[in-house]
Amino acid sequence: MSRTYPGRMDETNGAATAWADCVHCGEPTEYPETTRGATLCPVCEWQEGQRLACSG
Ligand SMILES: [Zn+2]
Repeated sequence: MSRTYPGRMDETNGAATAWADCVHCGEPTEYPETTRGATLCPVCEWQEGQRLACSG
């Protein structure tokens, strides 16, 4: 029972997707580079949501 788990390299089916960088911290986001507007990584997106939720 010592089978190593293979990397999940097949998810994108070989299509190289260029991910946009986060406009806040420069980390890669979950959005493709073709996404319009400001792209945020999950972390900054969450923080942005917190800020909006707690504004005031
Ligand atoms: Zn970020």
